[in-house]
Amino acid sequence: MTVLKPITKIFFFILLCGALHPTFAQTDTNTRASNITVFESPNDSADLATDFWTEISEEDERWLFGEYESFDIETTHYPMVDFSNKKDTTFITLLSGDERYVHPCDCPVTSRFGVRRYRFHYGIDTKLRTGDPVYSVFDGVVRIARRSTTYGFFVVVRHSNGLETYYAHLSRLLVVPEQEVKAGELIGLGGNTGRSRGSHLHFEIRYLGAPLNPEDLIDFETGKLWNPILELNTHHFRHLSEVAKLKQAAFHTVRSGETLSSIARRYGTSVNAICRLNGIKSTSVIRPGQRLRVR
Ligand SMILES: [Zn+2]
Repeated sequence: MTVLKPITKIFFFILLCGALHPTFAQTDTNTRASNITVFESPNDSADLATDFWTEISEEDERWLFGEYESFDIETTHYPMVDFSNKKDTTFITLLSGDERYVHPCDCPVTSRFGVRRYRFHYGIDTKLRTGDPVYSVFDGVVRIARRSTTYGFFVVVRHSNGLETYYAHLSRLLVVPEQEVKAGELIGLGGNTGRSRGSHLHFEIRYLGAPLNPEDLIDFETGKLWNPILELNTHHFRHLSEVAKLKQAAFHTVRSGETLSSIARRYGTSVNAICRLNGIKSTSVIRPGQRLRVR
């Protein structure tokens, strides 16, 4: 039994104060794991998921509370609750007292949060050289510092307000789980580990497991917070409609001899529509084995 750190207690208190707003309905708890689908991204291949919990029973909610309270140092992602129908606003204090925000690295954005071809990219990618310092953006406690096949060496820092920040594809870990860190504290070095093409930092912000667009909180041009208080509402989960569309998506693996026209005919769609979905031109060469989104 892990002794609760003060920060964990604060976190639990926030949860009890109603920060969690799930939709109540009966859900088979055994389907929990299968409700989360983890994919790899075609570009940086960090863990990406397209499925959210849309129905959470009271039992599930208790389980969620327990999960957060347990401070699990192994589980990469908590279940992503669907907050798209969130009716109220949760005021999240990002900085209190003498706390400060420190940008994770001195690094320009190279890929944004959002739909990335046929998958959803739940983080921000920034250019970073192997060995460059990566800092914790807020005060917090390290929940995870280990290696995964997709994230490579990565660190998850839990903050006292329900947020967690993720730092992936590192070359070196400089912290351990349950270590308290301050904003600006060195937590690792930039790298190209996991499923990554080229050295970069994949940075995520999650609220009770649900990804937020880091650019809703942070101005990446100046490396500063937009506001020390985040007024979290349904607007911050507007991407979930895109995620829902992706769930309806259909894909086709190109076979030898096929053309965009023949594939379009087969699925009752147009070459233009396929090109739009895949970010290619009607003159683009398609190769056997290539995966195309057709719907
Ligand atoms: Zn990324």
